[in-house]
Amino acid sequence: MLKVENLTKMFGGLAAVNDVSVHFEANKINAIIGPNGAGKSTFFNLIAGMHKPTSGRIILDGEDITPLRCDYIARRGIGRTFQTTNLFETATVLDNLIVGHRLRTQSGLWDVLINSKRLQAEEKECRVKAREALDFVGLSHVENRLIADITQEERKRVAFALALATQPKLLLLDEPAAGVNPEETVGLADLMHKMVANGLTVCLIEHKMDMIMGMADKIMVLDHGEKIAEGTPQEIRENPVVIEAYLGSDEDAAA
Ligand code: ADP
Ligand code: MG
Repeated sequence: MLKVENLTKMFGGLAAVNDVSVHFEANKINAIIGPNGAGKSTFFNLIAGMHKPTSGRIILDGEDITPLRCDYIARRGIGRTFQTTNLFETATVLDNLIVGHRLRTQSGLWDVLINSKRLQAEEKECRVKAREALDFVGLSHVENRLIADITQEERKRVAFALALATQPKLLLLDEPAAGVNPEETVGLADLMHKMVANGLTVCLIEHKMDMIMGMADKIMVLDHGEKIAEGTPQEIRENPVVIEAYLGSDEDAAA
């Protein structure tokens, strides 16, 4: 579904992503691991169009999306979450979803000024979509709670729901389980499986090795911007290059 060819991103003299080629299959959980600074988030930023690559191509379902602006890429079906999600702390869960959805839909200033029919229809649609997304991620029961009053794990679910509002076919999740405890991590993993069961393709960056090893169909390992390995969890676990570069050298990551 997503084919990345020889992708490179230079920041000045630093190759944050260096000649990476990879293929993510539809309806699978693909994972990216690697030490801090390996280029994982930059790789996502390139796919989502927030950064333009120095060279290389990104092909989504046969279409070269490399030159497209990030809002067009979102409309082609790539959604994402960020390493940290900024939510409106003093607003309710539902209102955060509605605002998030609004930011991703179409009405311009003119529509707002004349409060057009289109805007009214969109607002109604936003509310419906927001509720659907909350139901999907299992947060309907807290829709009227303030963000400030929900748990870290529930916040992660809000971030998932925000990303789902654009109805992506490929969802990029940047460290979705960071800062949540092990039991809650299991719940988030279940949610990712549910997404795949509903036809989505997931690509996630994650430091929690036990989570990744238990759920990923395929893992790509980045180190200093380069792809050093790719394979099933079993293949990655046994790969001497990976053990040397990552698993063996980072106690935290292996924990
Ligand atoms: P990871 O997500 O794997 O921890 P990043 O993709 O965030 O790594 O960063 C990879 C490298 O690129 C790091 O050395 C980082 O400092 C650098 N980098 C990331 N974004 C920028 C940017 N916007 N400008 C300059 N350097 C950046
Ligand atoms: Mg990162």
